[in-house]
Amino acid sequence: MQVRAAFAFAQNQPIAVGDFTLDGPGPGEVLVELRAAGLCHSDMSFFDGSRVWSDYPIVLGHEGAGVVREVGPGVTSVRAGDHVITVGIPECGTCPACLSPRTNLCDTYFQPTTRRVFAQKGQQVRAFCELGTFCNFVTIRETQACVIRRDVPLDVVCCLACAGATGVGSAIFTAKMEPGSTAIVFGLGGIGLNVVEGARIAGASRIIGIDTNPAKEGPARTAGATEVLNPATTPDLLGTLREMTGGGADYAFDCVGGTDLLRMAVESTRIGWGTTVSIGIFPGAQEIALRPRAIQEGRRLIGSYLGNIKTRSELPRLADWYAEGRLRMDNLISHRIDLEDIGHGFDLIRQGAARRVVIDF
Ligand SMILES: [Zn+2]
Ligand SMILES: [Zn+2]
Repeated sequence: MQVRAAFAFAQNQPIAVGDFTLDGPGPGEVLVELRAAGLCHSDMSFFDGSRVWSDYPIVLGHEGAGVVREVGPGVTSVRAGDHVITVGIPECGTCPACLSPRTNLCDTYFQPTTRRVFAQKGQQVRAFCELGTFCNFVTIRETQACVIRRDVPLDVVCCLACAGATGVGSAIFTAKMEPGSTAIVFGLGGIGLNVVEGARIAGASRIIGIDTNPAKEGPARTAGATEVLNPATTPDLLGTLREMTGGGADYAFDCVGGTDLLRMAVESTRIGWGTTVSIGIFPGAQEIALRPRAIQEGRRLIGSYLGNIKTRSELPRLADWYAEGRLRMDNLISHRIDLEDIGHGFDLIRQGAARRVVIDF
C-alpha cells in the first residue's frame, strides 16, 4: 500500500515527510492502522547530529497506538480489531530473558533483522525500532504489538510505549520504590513527568523535581511533585537537596543524561541504600565518572530500557492504571499536530516548550 511517513535522510538535515510503499504482513507480522504517535528525543537523534548512524533514509517513530487491521500467517496472539500499543522491545515469551522475571530485554531485541517493510523509489528503507510509527500504517512483528483494553483513548495511551513505560516503569519496576520513600527527579520533560507519576503511584512521601525551565514546575506538581527546584536559582543544589532530605534521598532519577548530572544524582542519595536510576541518554561519547566511595558506601546505580516493563505481558497494566484514574497521562500531552507539521513538533521539543507532542492520524 501507499503511505505517507516522516523520515530522516541525513544528520543535521530537517526531518522530512514523503511517500513510501508499505508491505502487508508476512509470517508472524501484523498490519496496524495507527491512530496516534508520540514524538520522542530519541527520534530526533537521527537528524540533530547526536547519534552515529549511517543506514539512511530511516522512517522514524517508535511511540504509537492503533487498531490491528490484518494479521499474517502463524500469528496467534493478536487478532484483527485488537487495540495495540507498538513497542520498541519485543516480547517473544519464550527466550531466557522473557522467561526470567528480572528483565524485559527479550533476546530477539538484540538479533539483527533484515526485513524492511517500507520502500521508497524502489529502495528498501529501515524503520526505527522496526516500527516507524510516524506513518498512519505500520507492519510490525506480532511480538512488538501489545494488546490493550479497548476503552482507553489511543491518542493518549500511545505515550505509554516509550515515555510512560520508561518513566513509570523506572520508579515502580526498576527502582521498586516503596511507600513512604523519597525521590529526586532530575529533568521534568516527558520522561521525568512519568517518573514523578510512577513515584506517586508507588506511594512516595516526597518527590523533588529539578529543572532549569520554570515552565515545568506546574505540570510536575500536577503529576505529584511535592517540591520543584530550579538549579539556576539554587546556588548549592546538591547541598540543598541533602539538607532537604536529611542526608540524601532514597531514590534519584537522571532523566537528562550526562556525566555531571548523573554524578550529582548519585551524590544526592543517602548512604546505605540510596539508589540512582540512569535513564537519560548521554550525548556523544561521554562516560560515567563517579567517586568510588559514593558507591562503596552502599549506594546503587542501575539502569533499564523501557523501565524494566515486559512490553506485552506487563505494559497493559499501565493502560489499566490510566483507566482507573491512577495514572494521569492527560497532563503529559501538551501539543497535538498533523504528520505534515512534524518539523514544528520537534522544534517545540527542542525549545523546551512541549511536554509530549502527539501526531493525530
Ligand atoms: Zn522514545
Ligand atoms: Zn524473548
